[in-house]
Amino acid sequence: MPSVRVRFAPSPTGYLHVGGARTALFNWLYARHTGGTLILRIEDTDRERSTEAHTGVILDGLTWLGVDWDEGPFFQGAYGPRHRADAERLLEEGKAYRCFCTREELESQRAWAEGSGAGFRYDRRCHRLDASTVARRLQAGDPFTMRFFVPHEEIAWEDGVHGRISFQGHDLDDFVVLRSDHTAIYNLAVVSDDIAMEITHVIRGDDHISNTPKQIALYRALGRPAPVFAHVPMILGTDGKKLSKRHGATAVGDYQNTGILPQAMRNFLALLGWSPGEDREIVTEAEMIRLFTLAAIQKKAAVFDPAKLEWMNGQYLSSAAGAALLGVVERELGRMGVNHEEGDLIPVIDAVKARARTVLQVADQVAVRLDPARARRDSNGQALVDQMGASFVASLVSAADALTALDPPTWKPDVLLDTLKATAATHGLKLGDLMQPIRVALTGSTVSEPVNELLAVVGRERSLRRLREVADAASGGLAA
Ligand code: GLU
Repeated sequence: MPSVRVRFAPSPTGYLHVGGARTALFNWLYARHTGGTLILRIEDTDRERSTEAHTGVILDGLTWLGVDWDEGPFFQGAYGPRHRADAERLLEEGKAYRCFCTREELESQRAWAEGSGAGFRYDRRCHRLDASTVARRLQAGDPFTMRFFVPHEEIAWEDGVHGRISFQGHDLDDFVVLRSDHTAIYNLAVVSDDIAMEITHVIRGDDHISNTPKQIALYRALGRPAPVFAHVPMILGTDGKKLSKRHGATAVGDYQNTGILPQAMRNFLALLGWSPGEDREIVTEAEMIRLFTLAAIQKKAAVFDPAKLEWMNGQYLSSAAGAALLGVVERELGRMGVNHEEGDLIPVIDAVKARARTVLQVADQVAVRLDPARARRDSNGQALVDQMGASFVASLVSAADALTALDPPTWKPDVLLDTLKATAATHGLKLGDLMQPIRVALTGSTVSEPVNELLAVVGRERSLRRLREVADAASGGLAA
């Protein structure tokens, strides 16, 4: 068995779509699982729509996801001479022919076919041109395309995902392989490149199934064995429609910017159409590589559920070490314009990451702990203030008085907890009636890390100042 060689072949005509990223990931997983080689080939033959900026975004997205390639990036645009040589060979061997039909002629042929209720298929009229007519038209400089003469035979393959798929040659049009400007059309360029790059497995989206019989016919005509084809299922939105911008972000870069961790994105994308079995959701990179097979890819479409991605990101955030998140959180704080001293952040990140689903949420919560004046009261926080009325203020004042007595060195979670318990007992309060007002004062929310840890992370000066400020503001509100 030759070793596995797979490729990811994006067209740089847009950003890296999550579907493309999933295709790249599956190729990468298959290469890593088999000890094979992943080739990156940028299909930049659409000169009008391909840009270097898009190529850059695609490479950055793959790098962010940890999908590294072994060969390339190669640029398809550089292989024009080989594409043309392959087309010439087909022509010489009578497997392709020059078509002089103009766009207008083809349009009227199409209109006529459709008018008579038949689907349009090129009627091969240029295949019937005699040699002297062809010579005369070439002499006259008439433009021509090159069409592949599709043999009328069965074209079937054992798809790595779907099993046997079969087409009949007579159902395929004699498709164009070379444009009149002598550039190759996608199907020829891909086959020519896949042969030259010795690709053994083509793993790509279901939307390419209709191209595959044409490509297999080209392999046959060029006298080369076709690779294994595996077509991965489409990705749908939660409403069952094809995933599009209507469903929210579809660019990998958008997820990077909203604080999704690359490990979470990779895990999530891997499960779009593949499963490690046993209903497992969180799968490490090493396990994915060990368990990934083409046979385990599902036939049915996959559903992209952003809520699940956030949940998964939350799982990765809570199990990540605070130190490992430092870089991304610092970048986010920088964007938010929050000053921080280095070294201070890790315990703060550790305190909040279990309750966040995105890096942005971590950064927000860190910012509030560095400066509680940033806290915005949410509806539950406000409901607590409204419901407790004067006792909200009384609790804050009692807590602040008791905590002021603690020296800076004793401002530690265990001492803080003991102090709060003693204060609650002294005032005949349930512990929660003392704790919740502190939590709301410091964070605006009724949910956070344990209050003694919150106080420790916010620090003595900032905590005491904030408790008094909120108490003052709330008592002002009560008096008014
Ligand atoms: N450039 C093609 C695309 O982006 C690649 C198709 C293929 O993998 O053959 O859809």
